[in-house]
Amino acid sequence: MQPFTSIADLGRGLARGDYSARELAAFYLERIAAANDDLNAFIRVTEERALGAAEAADRSIARGEGGPLTGIPLAHKDIFCTDGVATTCASRMLAGFVPPYDATVVARLAAAGTVCLGKTNMDEFAMGSSNETSWFGPARNPWDRGRAPGGSSGGSAAAVGAGLVPCATGTDTGGSIRQPAAFCGVTGLKPTYGRVSRYGMIAFASSLDQGGAFGRSVEDVETVLGAMEGHDPLDSTSAERGPTRRSGGRNGAERMRIGLPSEYWTGLPGDLGGCLLAAAQELEQAGHALVSLSLPHTDAAVPAYYVIAGAEASANLSRYDGVRFGLRAEDPTDLDDLYRRSRAAGFGTEVKRRILTGTYTLSVGYYDAYYLKAQRVRRRIQQDFLEAFDDVDAIAAPVAPGPAFELGAVDDPVAMYRQDVFTTPASLAGLPAMSMPCGLVDGLPVGLQLIGPPFEEGRLLNLGSEFQQRTDWHLRHPET
Ligand code: GLN
Repeated sequence: MQPFTSIADLGRGLARGDYSARELAAFYLERIAAANDDLNAFIRVTEERALGAAEAADRSIARGEGGPLTGIPLAHKDIFCTDGVATTCASRMLAGFVPPYDATVVARLAAAGTVCLGKTNMDEFAMGSSNETSWFGPARNPWDRGRAPGGSSGGSAAAVGAGLVPCATGTDTGGSIRQPAAFCGVTGLKPTYGRVSRYGMIAFASSLDQGGAFGRSVEDVETVLGAMEGHDPLDSTSAERGPTRRSGGRNGAERMRIGLPSEYWTGLPGDLGGCLLAAAQELEQAGHALVSLSLPHTDAAVPAYYVIAGAEASANLSRYDGVRFGLRAEDPTDLDDLYRRSRAAGFGTEVKRRILTGTYTLSVGYYDAYYLKAQRVRRRIQQDFLEAFDDVDAIAAPVAPGPAFELGAVDDPVAMYRQDVFTTPASLAGLPAMSMPCGLVDGLPVGLQLIGPPFEEGRLLNLGSEFQQRTDWHLRHPET
């Protein structure tokens, strides 16, 4: 067994009987046991359940009922509720919370036969770009343990990047799948808002939150997405759409027009810019046309995102009151005291900062100046993209301003927010966007981002897989 094998190859190994699903799960569990003290990618390993699920998968395979994911190990970001397994969102606030139900994503992936090995580390309530706000301490980047794996889905990206699991779920509100995928040298897809059910996914900013997948390749991500997507009556914002299918450009064109927005491509550090340009040119050599274009409101995305996400977070997190979930202060003198002390002890600094700024921007007298204005900016950004997609089939862009930074190096909150400059625009516009490895800068992986029109994931998968057939960046991995 090899740790960096594709899902399809693992499936073939299982079908041939080279190994059983139980042996496969045990193999990855052993890798986790050996590496996790160091990487901190998993905050909970569910060994017994995993072996039980693997045995059930072996029985399905023996009956000839296996699908592409039967017996494939995976990990869930700790933001997804798992029936009977503690789910904390990496917050002290949810210490001891054991959900009585599965998130739709978790239930669907279990029904597809996947074997969940555990829950992965993340920024607290998914707020962060480095995994450093986790109550459990940061996950570490498998390419350099002194560096951040990115965030907020840092544990999932680090686990796949280190070959501790073949694939994992994540969520992306403003970049939390794409940026850690880039930092850890794996492929990550944030689907169109509404493609994947949010039921049982702990809410951060409900108009932006979207579940998605990490894998070693575009093909692997496509397989996982296929099992998690689709309409869910339990999430009123989930879209009634058919399954994602690979597709060409507008009118089915095989040769696509790929836009390079000047706002994303100017001012990049030389080596990063060089890698990204070479990647775009690879697509050009495959027969696609590169077109320069402008998305003029790009620089307003980070401020608009942080106003909107903070506002929604302040409302969503008001439910953690010390009464219904998780942490409860002892011996309160009255109800206000219970709220105050439970919330003070349960939330970390960054989460408190978001709740405070979010409450402020929603308060009487400031609502128009901040929240309403941010909504208008969001509309402009959306409009920029939709106009661009009149002329191009997809957009190519950087994912982050550089490769993984050192843990502790970005210690100013606003500097951290600025890390999200290239990911927040597609989030505000609700668009599908994918990150895939496209080079190394100082020995660290960097990612190319492909952004598509709403529900055109199939176009991104098509382009991405073409890119990965021509290059081998996605096959590289850190020494283990
Ligand atoms: N880094 C962004 C934030 O802190 C995005 C996080 C996310 O996508 N969940 O809000």
